[in-house]
Amino acid sequence: MSEETIFTKIINGTIPSKTVYHDDLVTAFLDIAPKAEHHILIVTNKPIPSVAHVEAEDEQMLGHLFIVARKIAEDLGVNESGYRLIVNVGKDGCQEVPHIHMHLLAGGYLGGFGFPHDKI
Ligand code: 5GP
Repeated sequence: MSEETIFTKIINGTIPSKTVYHDDLVTAFLDIAPKAEHHILIVTNKPIPSVAHVEAEDEQMLGHLFIVARKIAEDLGVNESGYRLIVNVGKDGCQEVPHIHMHLLAGGYLGGFGFPHDKI
């Protein structure tokens, strides 16, 4: 069996985290190195390495990420003011942890995003 990801260890409670939501399909916790006032990771409990590995059978679970994102945004009071959802994929997408997750960034105007720094 392949080694557990750091996020699986967080979901199982082996590694501590500040969990804000948990159900049968996903777990959400505060990012250890926040890039915005609110930075939450919404992680599938099933350890799929990345979007490049999703299958049709994962559709309901992946859609659930958005439902939980909206719930957390409501809890934070930013559902109307806005927020950003990011899913990094693979090396060029700067994905660090090989376990599907959605970043929820919120807390004020987040600015634009675009080309990588070395291409500007
Ligand atoms: P990625 O670059 O894979 O899209 O994002 C991985 C995220 O996981 C990063 O924002 C990083 O700060 C966060 N992270 C990495 N290790 C830990 C950890 O042990 N605990 C928590 N809470 N977040 C982590």
